[in-house]
Amino acid sequence: MNELQVKNIRMVMVNTTHPGNIGAAARAIKNMALTELVLVDPKDFPAEKAVWRAAGAADILENARIVSTLDEAIADCGLVIGTSARERRIPWPLLTPRECGERTWVESATHPVAIVFGREDRGLTNEELQKCHFHVHIPANPEYSSLNISAALQVICYEIRTAALTEAAGKELHFDDWDMPPAKSDDLERYYEHLQETLVKLSFINQDNPRQTITRLRRMFNRIRLDQMELSILRGLLTSIQNYIFHSDNKIQELSDNHLKSKDK
Ligand code: SAH
Repeated sequence: MNELQVKNIRMVMVNTTHPGNIGAAARAIKNMALTELVLVDPKDFPAEKAVWRAAGAADILENARIVSTLDEAIADCGLVIGTSARERRIPWPLLTPRECGERTWVESATHPVAIVFGREDRGLTNEELQKCHFHVHIPANPEYSSLNISAALQVICYEIRTAALTEAAGKELHFDDWDMPPAKSDDLERYYEHLQETLVKLSFINQDNPRQTITRLRRMFNRIRLDQMELSILRGLLTSIQNYIFHSDNKIQELSDNHLKSKDK
């Protein structure tokens, strides 16, 4: 497997409680010839138990990057896929594990891809899931669908390896060719902040309760997979709207000042 491409594939574990699960995940990653593990604010790490469960994959643990937020873990990624053990209230574009493996493998040829795993007890929060372009669900027993986190990670890593082997065997895996790289996760986050700020200024949404509208707009833009050029056009558009509001606010102020002045005369 191409080493540079493999470096573009990142398993992200959020707030993991048991170090044994981190060790087992490291082993799963190395077994499938992958290398990158990022831990978001792990509860107990580094830990003996993690090294013990990693067996011969201690190098993956040693090289694991530890960060304090999910945003940091995915900042430079052009594709983010969130794993989910159950269906959510707002449906999101959903991949099967096979599609997840193929898309991850194909896209990792050109940009970093993150697969995000949740807490052992309650998975990923809605806010975290909303940072993802796609969700992936392993279709387990509907009456008992929640896998151990490292088992779920193993399934996903296996699918990525299967995609790599399929391609190596000469079968072309293909998604749309595009002339621009996809927008990076941190640029998208800044765009969503800018968008929310502008919509509040326009009184289109209420500052205290922007939730549903912003969630739906996030879902729409994540579904489109904005590229870097499209994102910069949208940022420019928001800046123009904000400038327009600023100038018309000043104009109104000027008119009312003049009106008061003329009344005083
Ligand atoms: N009670 C939690 C279960 C979390 S399981 C919940 O309902 O969300 C811990 C993590 O393992 C999940 O966040 C996810 O990353 C992964 N996982 C477990 N089962 C999965 C499944 N069927 N499909 C995809 N990911 C799964």
